[in-house]
Amino acid sequence: THFGYKTVEAEKKADLVADVFHSVAAKYDIMNDVMSFGIHRLWKRHTIEVAAARPGMSILDLAGGTGDLTAKFSRIVGNTGSVVIADINDSMLKVGRTKLRDRGIVNNVSYVQANAEALPFPDNHFDIITIAFGLRNVTDKDAALRSMRRVLKPGGKLLVLEFSKPKHEVMRKVYDLYSFKVLPKMGAMITQDADSYEYLAESIRMHPDQETLKQMMIDAGLEQVDYTNMTDGVVALHRGYKF
Ligand code: SAM
Repeated sequence: THFGYKTVEAEKKADLVADVFHSVAAKYDIMNDVMSFGIHRLWKRHTIEVAAARPGMSILDLAGGTGDLTAKFSRIVGNTGSVVIADINDSMLKVGRTKLRDRGIVNNVSYVQANAEALPFPDNHFDIITIAFGLRNVTDKDAALRSMRRVLKPGGKLLVLEFSKPKHEVMRKVYDLYSFKVLPKMGAMITQDADSYEYLAESIRMHPDQETLKQMMIDAGLEQVDYTNMTDGVVALHRGYKF
């Protein structure tokens, strides 16, 4: 910004993230299926189970992208509830909106372009917030976690689904090889855009591991913070509450 709140590095990262998701939006869903062998669907299904949403609830699907979680929540909360899908990137939101509309999901979903670091919602507003494969793209993660806590209702739940650190050395090796060698090549083949997928692999490597993210959530004021590993810790689901 003009006021020096953000460093040049932070601005560069934000620009890069914007470029990546504008560039991959149209093929994002198919790439997810191809690159994760469809397993992202299981990770998301587990997230929905842990969320334990109920009819009438008010839910924020942050960094919601093309709306996979939003679609599931929309069915659960019904017409007395509501789901806000928020994302910083309008290309991703547009792809999401088209997909959800095609599936007849219209009544209880609203779309908001917003930065996770400074959420444009009132305090104590949501019963549940999810951020799936989004936090690692956020420049100031601590600010984002504080912002999420602020807009949660007392008793509300935050779920962070994100790549993490595999538990076993063998899995780590396989996973490194896959994300650094195979993934960018596959990305290049399908989208003609190797750079974006190199960024994605790099962002996965740089992301805080299970215990670090747990501590970050505690530092942001969340309580009873815990996590479960999936696929040997390739992905972890962190949960925390606001009381
Ligand atoms: N949640 C969806 C899913 O699981 O399929 C999309 C995940 S996609 C890998 C990451 C999303 O985070 C992108 O849509 C991107 O635009 C969004 N994003 C990145 N930085 C963000 C920020 N600071 N605030 C909000 N959304 C952000």
